[in-house]
Amino acid sequence: MNTKKFLLQEKDIPTAWYNIVADMKNKPLPPLNPKTKKPLNPEDLYPLFAKGLVDQEVNQTDAWIEIPEEVRDMYKIWRPTPLVRAFGLEKALDTPAHIYFKNESVSPVGSHKLNSAIPQAYFCKKEGVTNITTETGAGQWGAAMSLAAKHFGLELAVYMVKISYNQKPYRRLIMQTYGAEVVASPSMSTRAGRDIITKHPNYQGSLGTAISEAVELAMQTPNCKYVLGSVLNHVMLHQTVIGLEAEKQMEMAGEYPDVLIACFGGGSNFSGIAYPFLRHKLLDGKDIRVIAAEPACCPKLTRGEFQYDFGDEAGYTPLIPMYTLGHSFTPANIHAGGLRYHGAGSIVSQLRKDGYVDAVDIPQLETFKAALLFAKTEGIIPAPESSHAIAATIREAEQAKLEGKQKTILFNLSGHGLIDMTAYDQYLEGDLTNGEVSDADIAKNIAELDKII
Ligand SMILES: *Cc1c(COP(=O)(O)O)cnc(C)c1O
Repeated sequence: MNTKKFLLQEKDIPTAWYNIVADMKNKPLPPLNPKTKKPLNPEDLYPLFAKGLVDQEVNQTDAWIEIPEEVRDMYKIWRPTPLVRAFGLEKALDTPAHIYFKNESVSPVGSHKLNSAIPQAYFCKKEGVTNITTETGAGQWGAAMSLAAKHFGLELAVYMVKISYNQKPYRRLIMQTYGAEVVASPSMSTRAGRDIITKHPNYQGSLGTAISEAVELAMQTPNCKYVLGSVLNHVMLHQTVIGLEAEKQMEMAGEYPDVLIACFGGGSNFSGIAYPFLRHKLLDGKDIRVIAAEPACCPKLTRGEFQYDFGDEAGYTPLIPMYTLGHSFTPANIHAGGLRYHGAGSIVSQLRKDGYVDAVDIPQLETFKAALLFAKTEGIIPAPESSHAIAATIREAEQAKLEGKQKTILFNLSGHGLIDMTAYDQYLEGDLTNGEVSDADIAKNIAELDKII
């Protein structure tokens, strides 16, 4: 019998996160103060973020950062996650490729986001913070943060993009079940919200506005910090538990991936699985192809430009060096809401620039086709985001078949899609489109950026 699942035990949960920056020859460029265009000091970030997290954010020297025992204890609820050989998918594709996936969908909230929500809540709590704020689009990050905040006894306010608040009641209810306060954004509770409602009474919200509201509330509330679910260095750091476990599990399987694939929004699940393997490439010159799978409507790594840009639409954040489509870029309204972000984190952007990371962009219909095949052959209904990784994996497996070459592929299943069944309904009814983007539209938004690089 061939082994289907490679399982680790609680004692194998990593004891340290991997900080890839320590091993990078070219460090990422520093974030800049948008007014002075001078590099930011860690102290500039302390009012907004917990100090422990800022210190991780700027750490360029320690390759390993210890995971606090309280965090590991909570990881035990669902970690280590399984590594699975996708025999069913391989057979359906009739490919010589060996396909493995790391199943992050088994977390209580259904995605990898909890890996970072827990340490973020922990470091806030440790510093005497009582309240935290954040924003959420489709609700994956908000759900994870709600559970983590409750565990550490923190009050959480989540600004949820209004259109999702109305269209995706289940994730709102998950957050409320864990005890978070969920506010539809734009709201009347902040100046940023009131301003935009006054100007556009029917505005359905955006992540940019929700970020502005969450930041404003955090700055005005005593003992309150703001937390973010992707893009920042410390988020990527926390997610490396995925790849560190997968590294051991691939050893158990007696194979090493030739190709590693993850979907890409801001880069957290991608970095989480990729950095521990990229370490072999950086330090030992190991031959591994690492591919970020993006939506065709939001292709920052495939068609964007490496430039300083804001992290949010409104331009409140520091300037971050990133592959970007421009912060005013509005991607088509595809179902993979978690991938509709204009930029990529600064570490992964540097790695891309230095040739360590490949990217592909995939149209929406191809991702749903892949998702259905995966559901039918492996039993798991994937999140629309994760389906991008599956579609990219299928392309690689079909290529292996054409070349008649055995190849080992590992992809990250970042989440399940059981709360996204309306999206599947629309696909099955033939109501979805590809939602691509023209070169002119990309060029227009990039042209608005200050060319600092
Ligand atoms: C949020 C999310 C993503 C995209 O975010 P990254 O930071 O790029 O990982 C992907 N998959 C799932 C299931 C998500 O919830």
